[in-house]
Amino acid sequence: MRLFPTRLNDREATFSQAVLEPMSARGGLYAPKELPVFSREEQRDMSALSYAHLAKRVIKKLEIDIDDAVIELALESYALFDDPNDPAPLKEIGNDLFVCELWHGPTRSFKDMALCPFGRLLGEIAAKRDERLLILTATSGDTGPAALKSFSGADNIDVVCLYPHGKTSRVQELQMISQKAPNLKVIAIEGDFDDAQNALKKLLSSERFKGALKRRKIRVSAANSINFGRILFQIIYHVRSALALGEPIDIIIPSGNFGNALGAFYARKMGFPIGTIVVSSNSNNVLTDLIMSGRYDLRERHLVKTTSPAMDILKSSNVERVIFDLFGCERANEIFTSLENERFFALSEEELSVMQGIFEAAWSSEEMVDKALFESAKNGYIIDPHTATCIRSAWLGNSKKKVICSTAEWTKFAPTLQRALNLGAGGDEDALKRISAEFNAPVNGSITALFEREYANVPPIRAEEIEEKIVDFIALRDR
Ligand SMILES: *Cc1c(COP(=O)(O)O)cnc(C)c1O
Repeated sequence: MRLFPTRLNDREATFSQAVLEPMSARGGLYAPKELPVFSREEQRDMSALSYAHLAKRVIKKLEIDIDDAVIELALESYALFDDPNDPAPLKEIGNDLFVCELWHGPTRSFKDMALCPFGRLLGEIAAKRDERLLILTATSGDTGPAALKSFSGADNIDVVCLYPHGKTSRVQELQMISQKAPNLKVIAIEGDFDDAQNALKKLLSSERFKGALKRRKIRVSAANSINFGRILFQIIYHVRSALALGEPIDIIIPSGNFGNALGAFYARKMGFPIGTIVVSSNSNNVLTDLIMSGRYDLRERHLVKTTSPAMDILKSSNVERVIFDLFGCERANEIFTSLENERFFALSEEELSVMQGIFEAAWSSEEMVDKALFESAKNGYIIDPHTATCIRSAWLGNSKKKVICSTAEWTKFAPTLQRALNLGAGGDEDALKRISAEFNAPVNGSITALFEREYANVPPIRAEEIEEKIVDFIALRDR
């Protein structure tokens, strides 16, 4: 597979190059132009395969520059899931309405689906090239724990994870600060997710920081979904859903950075029976606007804090890969330069109708999310606030069978549920107990274990102090 910069018509990269250096020239990303299509016969053969075998078949056909043995090793990380043979189980919750539960991994969010295998894959790529990597992540709550877990103890990879103090759930915070491997550094900062993200961007252009890395021959990479290596593993479960249900499906996806939806887009492009991809948003509904009107307008917008924080995003990075795929790199360059400079772009009518042939969209207000949480629990199935945004969008699309992607286990957002279910108000621990007792819902052992020990809290630092902290950490690791 060859990957191309989304904003420039040259310099293709191999898969492993793009994984090590995920940003391309002019601020673009790497994406494929073409993907292999699976015939009906091939698909029939594949429908009985186990998850790992299915993944291997799909990845093999993509012809990436990674040895089979390494791909197998990466896929073995699904052993960390509740059921290694079925890491993303499908449940029918209504007539022809299914949920694909993507949160059975070690940190209980869909981030594990890709970060578990991706961590091993990246470790192997770095080792083979004898490179030392520093992964910098800013997290609103789910990427941090999954990345820390995945890279914990890795030989040639260090991870620095920045999170906004007090802005994640206590479960998410504990998942981060309880990680103790020496190659991991967790930093709480004063401010919100955007402040954390901006601090990282500033760091990457600091001469002092770049000098410190260069002296030590360390390369910086990213573990968020701008990295194509993550997208690779986010194609597979959509393929599995489409094959398992035996007829075309619509997929409803709670979206933020659009990496999950991009995986579905690629699965569809590879010929698997996926009808409409329904993009679901919370009150930060830029993606709904884009798909309904063709306009992406940040000029009057401010980020709104919601109960589904992983979707509190205004600049949705992976939209760029879809625009590149459908309209080419020149147009992508035009559009995303305009978004950066004018905070706005508009698709032509023709382009919009191409988009609408693939995507539909809807959003849920905070009230609708609360209502969906309540109704769903009453019907005996507890969902989290991100998944809850999909309840209202599930009637969109034209296929008979619908699959909602459930992106987190409710246990990560228990206080929000406690309130929505009218069970009082308390901290995470109290909320977990109350909901578990009321609905006879089990709490995963990895979550209860978080409350069984005391952890020294990470005192938050100011943005100006981040660089020094990270430089110190790198120096310490070098000894
Ligand atoms: C990351 C995340 C999302 C958003 O996924 P994208 O691929 O960024 O669109 C939705 N829900 C949860 C729980 C998440 O952790």
